[in-house]
Amino acid sequence: MNKNYLKSLDRIANQLELSFDKQTAIIFGVFNGYMVCLIPFNETYTFTLKLSISRKNEMPDSELVKQVVSESKIIANCKVQGYQVTYTLKAGNMFGKKSGVKLQEGLEKITNFLKTEDFQNCCQDCGTEEALDIYNVSGIPLICCESCFKDHCDKLSASEYAQKQKQENLIGGLVGALLGSLIGVIAIVIFGQLGYVSAVSGIIMGVCSLKGYELLGGKLSNKGIIGSGIVMIIMVYFGTRLDWSISVANYFIDIDILTAFRVLPTLMTEGYIEARDYYVDLALVYLFTALGAIPTVISLLRNRKVKNASYKMSEAS
Ligand SMILES: [Zn+2]
Repeated sequence: MNKNYLKSLDRIANQLELSFDKQTAIIFGVFNGYMVCLIPFNETYTFTLKLSISRKNEMPDSELVKQVVSESKIIANCKVQGYQVTYTLKAGNMFGKKSGVKLQEGLEKITNFLKTEDFQNCCQDCGTEEALDIYNVSGIPLICCESCFKDHCDKLSASEYAQKQKQENLIGGLVGALLGSLIGVIAIVIFGQLGYVSAVSGIIMGVCSLKGYELLGGKLSNKGIIGSGIVMIIMVYFGTRLDWSISVANYFIDIDILTAFRVLPTLMTEGYIEARDYYVDLALVYLFTALGAIPTVISLLRNRKVKNASYKMSEAS
């Protein structure tokens, strides 16, 4: 995530006298007596405000807690699910100027409203008002009691265990990467025949190869990333050469595509084809494939990291 963006979230958290969890980019803490989590939407200054509340041990009524939405321009939406209440807070422009002030206003409106309506903090799962804390489970913030947090962890470690038990099938994965890369080859040829090297075909190649591996290989390990990378390198070369061969076959009527594919290097050394153009073309497709593959790998690795994390948020920062 963008460093400046994280810094500005940290600043906003300070303004609100709340804490900031760098790993998940969530602002959290106790505001005006209520446990709150502010979850930013896609690196913008629109936030989901999450609360977990009850009144006389009853779940909140959605018609009632929605009333506060009309009281401020910043508060855009309200959803209720069990004890969980979420509001969408629109806190400003793309630079986050005055976002802190706007959030402060929105939070005050909401929490004051909840106070007059007599709502209490409670566990989002069992509704108890005892031993509450804000936890991060797999990147999702939970307002819950200690025993419900333990339940979440147990469930999570069971599914993690199942994931680990899932064997990676290298051959299946490579077949998947190969099938995925064929979609990339088709894209290279189609865009190539239309007359341009497209960033899109490179990105399709990168993404489809990795997803293909994951789909047929069960999971994408580091070994899988390397294997898919090799498949991509070969298939980009193949796709580009095929694209050029089709052009050659179209131009010289007495040569078919297969022959053109075979004699392409000779045509270059003999000057029928400008070798420089060919290699520039090839280099561009490699570049665009990397542009497609690298972000896919990064987001995959990041997910893997966040998935494993479960902790009490107040103790982490
Ligand atoms: Zn609980």
